Amino acid sequence: MKAAIAYLRFSSPSQGDGDSLKRQKKLIDEWLKVHPEYQLDDTTYEDLGLSAFKGKHADSGAFADFMDALNHGVIAAGTVLLIESLDRLSREKIGDATERLKRILICDVDVVTLCDNTHYTKESLNDPYAIIKAILIAQRANEESEIKSSRVKASWRRKREEAEKTGTIMTRACPRWLRVSEDRKSFEVIEENVSTIIKIFDLRKENASLHRITKYLNDRNIKTLSGVEGQWHPSSIQKILSNKALIGICTPSYRARNQGLTEIHNYYPKILSDESFFEIQELRLAPFGRVVVKENPLLINLLRTILRCRYCNSTMIVTSVSGSHHGYYACPMKRLHRCSAPLIKREMVDDIIIGCVLFNAREFESEPLNVDKTIQLNSRNVEVMLEIKNLISAIKLAPDVSSLADELRLLDKEFKRNETALQVIMSRNKKMNIKNIQDMDLQKKDDREQCRNYAYKTFQTITIDTVAKKCNIHFITGLCFNNFPLTKTLTVSSIKNALLYIDGETVYF
Ligand SMILES: [Zn+2]
Repeated sequence: MKAAIAYLRFSSPSQGDGDSLKRQKKLIDEWLKVHPEYQLDDTTYEDLGLSAFKGKHADSGAFADFMDALNHGVIAAGTVLLIESLDRLSREKIGDATERLKRILICDVDVVTLCDNTHYTKESLNDPYAIIKAILIAQRANEESEIKSSRVKASWRRKREEAEKTGTIMTRACPRWLRVSEDRKSFEVIEENVSTIIKIFDLRKENASLHRITKYLNDRNIKTLSGVEGQWHPSSIQKILSNKALIGICTPSYRARNQGLTEIHNYYPKILSDESFFEIQELRLAPFGRVVVKENPLLINLLRTILRCRYCNSTMIVTSVSGSHHGYYACPMKRLHRCSAPLIKREMVDDIIIGCVLFNAREFESEPLNVDKTIQLNSRNVEVMLEIKNLISAIKLAPDVSSLADELRLLDKEFKRNETALQVIMSRNKKMNIKNIQDMDLQKKDDREQCRNYAYKTFQTITIDTVAKKCNIHFITGLCFNNFPLTKTLTVSSIKNALLYIDGETVYF
């Protein structure tokens, strides 16, 4: 019979007598029941509250004893080490946890993580994905303990409170067009950088693309905000264009916002008026440049990137447009025989989604939803950011990166989409700089483009069931219409009536 060794660990003494111990013991019992070929060794390694007593870098305690026993060959090959999760191996640097895992496996001792029931063996060392997964899990634990570092948080909270009350400057770090004065009591404006920023806003206001602005600045050897000539990049320009510090607002990081920190207004000196700032935000929200469609205006897909196939979640495309014929929405996977969703008449869908829903959207969206949605989007983006970070570390180690890269691309897309949604909600609360939607002539190119931008700022996604001819409409504000019929026109008042029976954020039709 093979031996199983249990390793228990608690990060604080207060956890020791509580649920953590019970939970870990219960997991061990359950595992042993399912694996009767193993017998629990008498020696159980327990680090009770070690990290709290000795600091997290403690290299002593039960785990060190276990490694000692392992290195001296006391632990027989084929033994399994049972731990709740890999983060029990180390709350320290991520490299440590995987290094320890490798060292144990090399000695022909297996490791089972009880939380996800993963069995690592010596063979796992040859399977890069197993180790990558282990790294990701350990990294996640590492991130979490980083977030938990409460001491740092408390000191920042105090600084913030003071900043909000008295305008005290929190840190010397500040936007690149400002510097903190010697006595640390005020901000000084760096005129050269400010005039560059104003030039960027002026160019953008004249509808110059990010690339054109980049070229303009580089051609004239205008210094970047960090003082280098000819090093402008579209992404840095985009960052400047959306930086709320220009209108005096200090914005906490995603992670901080997730913990409930809010913006501090009038923290920085204002470089721009609110009007000129928000006007530009309107311009930069939609990702569809200014493509000139010389041909048929109907080629402009009003629901581009928004409309998705209910069956395979692909983004629907427009086909068979000619003359005044609107054509169809089609799932691109159908052509590849990977999806069976039939075509659906575009005119019918647009009539309902644009004519009935979009044109009346402001009547359906209620303000209170916005607040929750902002928090939700923020916390989702914190998660997305962590996932992106973890994936990047995984890619560095992976032998074949294409599937990881695809995942990374999707996360990046989601991140940007959430950013847009946050900006939409933010600028919507200010003012909406748009031609009266009801007056739009959807036969005209310009109006169609404007309508498409408006749809992009209104809908998060619309998943369409082309068989049942129904769709789920997710608004950017969080509101959701489920099973919205595409075959009959509902009046504004009947939709509003349905809103009375809203369940959370969802209305069922
Ligand atoms: Zn499909």
